[in-house]
Amino acid sequence: MPTYEYECGKCRRRHEAFQSITAKPLTKCPACGGRLKRLLGSGSGFLFKGSGFYITDYRSKRYTDAKKKDEQAAAPKKPSASGGCKSGACGGSGDSCASA
Ligand SMILES: [Zn+2]
Repeated sequence: MPTYEYECGKCRRRHEAFQSITAKPLTKCPACGGRLKRLLGSGSGFLFKGSGFYITDYRSKRYTDAKKKDEQAAAPKKPSASGGCKSGACGGSGDSCASA
């Protein structure tokens, strides 16, 4: 379960909360009732600094992009050359295509 860090915009106190990813973010400072903003801790790989309050959309877009990239990287670009496509469909030549 990830740890979320919040900072109060009023008293500047920081709070940590263990929450599931689907849990609603905290919005209220338990100490003074001020507005909390969620900080992204070091565990998430990047730190968001700024005055923005909700960064959920930004984050989820980054996450989606990264995931897409991963999937593309994982997917083979050509039919496996080691198996030999034998038809030239792999676009390879010589050793990488058995039809050559
Ligand atoms: Zn506060």
